This record gives sequence, structure tokens and C-alpha cells, in this order.
Amino acid sequence: MSASTQPAVDGWFATDGSGQAYLIGAKCHQCGTYVFPPRTNNCPNPGCDGDDLAQVPLSRRGTLWSYTENRYAPPPPYPSPDPFEPFAVAAVELAEEGLIVLGKVVEGTLAADLKVGMEMELTTMPLYVDDDGVERIVHAWRIAR
Ligand SMILES: [Zn+2]
Repeated sequence: MSASTQPAVDGWFATDGSGQAYLIGAKCHQCGTYVFPPRTNNCPNPGCDGDDLAQVPLSRRGTLWSYTENRYAPPPPYPSPDPFEPFAVAAVELAEEGLIVLGKVVEGTLAADLKVGMEMELTTMPLYVDDDGVERIVHAWRIAR
């Protein structure tokens, strides 16, 4: 049994030299539009026929644009902790990129703690432990310190 930690989805975030997580997005070479999750082609801008996107680090901080609280466990096959704990989901706007990134909010912060316009910062949190005993982590938002 390994006790290692792995991203739940490869390639969505990385960790910088100081151990801080940042998201990886993609940017169109042609028009500069950003997209998350990252992809290598097919610019999301309907007015652009760019087909070559570069992987770029995204801002670690953004503004809370919207949020919700999930009080029900997702149906199978989506992994969920047992017993299920309600969690908040935040839509955070990255000003520089003009992008809104959805993510879970860290444990202990629920909708009552959140307010549109708050500054949020990126972190990671465990999502589930897979069949090999590997802790799978995802990007998450927390209230910026
Ligand atoms: Zn483009």
C-alpha cells in the first residue's frame, strides 16, 4: 500500500518552488484567450480560428463571482466521502485572464462564510482515496489570507 498523493486529474494544477499550488490553463497564441481546464487546440473564442494553445500558469488569486453549497452526495460513480459532508463550490474570476474557474471550497468554509467579491486563493484538498490507497487531490479555493 502506497501512501502517496496524486492529482485526481492530471495536468490541471502544479506546485511552484515554494509549495504553492497553481492552476494550469491554456492560452491561444492567436487571440490571447485563456481556457481552463487546459487544452492544446481549438480556441474557445468563437471569433477566432486559432488551433494552437500554450499551457500557462494561471493567477493564484481571484474574486469570488458566485458560489453554491452542495448538501447532497453525488450519485455513483462519482466519488464522495462517507459520511457525506456538505461543501461549498466557488466560481472565482481571475481578473488577468478573464476566466471563471469552478472549484470546491476547502473543508470548514460553507456558503454562510462566503460573500461575492471576496478575494479567494488557490489551494488543494484531498478528494478521495483510490483503490490503490493513493490519496487523490484536487484544486480548491479558500478565502485569501
Ligand atoms: Zn484564439
